[in-house]
Amino acid sequence: MSRVFNFSAGPAVLPEAVLAQAQQELTDWQGTGMSVMEMSHRSKAFTSIAEQAEADLRGLLSIPDNYKVLFLQGGASSQFSMVPMNLLHGKGKADYVNTGDWSRKAIAEVRRYADINVVASAEDNHFTDIPDFAEWRCDPDAAYLHYTPNETIRGVEFGWIPETGDVPLVADMSSTLLSRPLDVSRFGLIYAGAQKNIGPAGLTIVIVRDDLIGHSEFGTPTMFNYAVHAKAGSMYDTPPTYSWYMAGLVFKWLKEQGGLSAIAERNQRKANKLYQAIDLSDFYSNPVCRDCRSWMNVPFVLADASRDQQFLTEAEAAGLFTLKGHRDVGGMRASIYNAMPEEGVDALIDFMHQFEA
Ligand code: PMP
Repeated sequence: MSRVFNFSAGPAVLPEAVLAQAQQELTDWQGTGMSVMEMSHRSKAFTSIAEQAEADLRGLLSIPDNYKVLFLQGGASSQFSMVPMNLLHGKGKADYVNTGDWSRKAIAEVRRYADINVVASAEDNHFTDIPDFAEWRCDPDAAYLHYTPNETIRGVEFGWIPETGDVPLVADMSSTLLSRPLDVSRFGLIYAGAQKNIGPAGLTIVIVRDDLIGHSEFGTPTMFNYAVHAKAGSMYDTPPTYSWYMAGLVFKWLKEQGGLSAIAERNQRKANKLYQAIDLSDFYSNPVCRDCRSWMNVPFVLADASRDQQFLTEAEAAGLFTLKGHRDVGGMRASIYNAMPEEGVDALIDFMHQFEA
């Protein structure tokens, strides 16, 4: 079977060139006579793979030297606990912004550890916009402020970075990291599950400013302590070696595409044309306010929901897969991460026109 256009929210499409290289190297990585999957994480070969991946990621994002990059397991969901365990610094309170389902999950988890101040919430607007920053009720003494720059389920994305002064800014960038250039120095900590723009599931990237680690709460499990992983170069235990290698291939591919400015231009073009197709039609709609619309996850509903299943079935017949919206929202969702070629978005738009007709 030839490759389809896969609009999955994650695990998501990977660049075909990356898959081809992984296939070619699968049983014998560069003359070592073994697969990366079979290598000791402490071997010379894997160390070189790991170091190159980190160097390429640092290059792509221009990560300053005073930030550690960690390659962990546990998914972004583990970070919902790991962040407070390491960053509360004995203060017992933190600020959180609620812009959707993933914010809510982070907030529910942190309530086990701290007094949470929800500084702003879009819940009353059914998570279709981002509360005006002027109205956020931030606590200048909070241990940190946490937000979700891109809400994967409802497709709500910040086009700006909150200014929190001395309060470290923490961001769950699972579905937006590497989609555009980023000023890492504005953040105390960034985390992301890999399975969208980075690589296969099983790897979680954490980028954290040096001075914030090493002050974990009493009782923090060793595996949940950033300082332990930082000191061990993310090899305190066995890291997700194959996902790390695959992420490295994705970083190389991104560099070949011209880096994050070039990929951002393409992402914006892809998203713009899809939103335009939705907005120009009476049959499709997207409720998110225009300046908060995600470049990565584009949900839309049909005017006649009884046609949803027919839409999905016919889309698959046209080679367009995994367009079903999240179970909490319904309708459709097209995730158009970095590796979704522009032709995939064009094919989706053509299909939408035909279906509507
Ligand atoms: N945060 C966001 C924004 C996500 O999109 C997801 C996964 N879809 C998660 C957190 C949870 O990630 P994981 O499955 O890696 O724990």
